[in-house]
Amino acid sequence: MINIPTDNPEKQKQIIDVSVVVPIKDEVESLPHLLDAISCTLQNTNLNYEIICVDDGSTDDTASFLKQQAAIREDLKAIILRRNYGQTAAMSAGFNYATGKAVVTLDADLQNDPVDIPMLLNKLNEGYDLVSGWRQNRQDGAVNRLLPSKIANWLIRRTTSVNIRDYGCSLKAYRAELVADMNLYGELHRFLPALAYIEGAKITEIPVRHHARRFGKSKYGISRTFRVLMDLLTILFMKKFLTRPMHVFGLLGLFSMMTGTGIGIYLTFIKLVLNESIGSRPLLILAVLLLVTGVQLFCFGLLAELLMRTYHESQGRPIYRVREIVVKNDSDRSQ
Ligand code: UDP
Ligand code: MG
Repeated sequence: MINIPTDNPEKQKQIIDVSVVVPIKDEVESLPHLLDAISCTLQNTNLNYEIICVDDGSTDDTASFLKQQAAIREDLKAIILRRNYGQTAAMSAGFNYATGKAVVTLDADLQNDPVDIPMLLNKLNEGYDLVSGWRQNRQDGAVNRLLPSKIANWLIRRTTSVNIRDYGCSLKAYRAELVADMNLYGELHRFLPALAYIEGAKITEIPVRHHARRFGKSKYGISRTFRVLMDLLTILFMKKFLTRPMHVFGLLGLFSMMTGTGIGIYLTFIKLVLNESIGSRPLLILAVLLLVTGVQLFCFGLLAELLMRTYHESQGRPIYRVREIVVKNDSDRSQ
């Protein structure tokens, strides 16, 4: 679990069952309703909870509202970022300051319903590491939102082998150990299930409520589709080659070099033995091209291999993840 510095030692001692992480950009009208709805729902369970609101460089009164609320509410921790970093970074900040055994994320715009949180947590307790919400009745525009999302979900499902229907839903519940293992960059929050899958998580999906936006407007336009595609490529690469880049680049490079060399030998034979001119043959260009790309791919593989080693070793990250360690008389879950 993540240990965070807090100036209130009492808070650190208290064991938190669930941290609710909310990334926020310009949603001041929604916040009072949101905080009340989360508190109301979680107070009805006997869980110890904290709400972590991350202000992602809002230009409205979000930051001052959060500061004022955090001063009077026991259950709220407000993290104010210096500027706007994007939803992924805001979520990542929330994860870093979360102390709960489970972490739930949701949007601040009241599109996700906090009433669903206990249901997600119950599902998590059935032994899953990640429970994702599925917006069965999604309340967003059909052409600009639903269609791109349908295509993106299909693509992601096909390429990442995580079989859930709705990647874009922010309402998700995670085990804290899983969150600590996932590093977020770019706009990878959409691919959290795929990242979790790479970390060996058990993932499931349950239907959740979804409402139309009541205040403000969406922070994203159609241009996000392209960024999602680029992130998808990153994820694909991570999934396939994280620990063995040389298997791909080395193999391709070797194949390319061998073909180039073969053609080169053939051309040399023609030149030296048959005494024919080879200067104007396209095959010569192909041979050179194959040799050069081959060497480059091979070197790239070697470099990637070194990078991967640095990636794992610098963070003390083993290349495997342990779900449980079981020995006689000790069945504690362990990291
Ligand atoms: N958000 C954020 N930083 C940003 C953009 C968005 O923290 O740069 C937050 C936003 O306040 C909301 C959530 O991310 O709580 C989802 O954003 P939005 O509702 O605009 O996305 P949509 O639901 O339209 O996909
Ligand atoms: Mg929204």
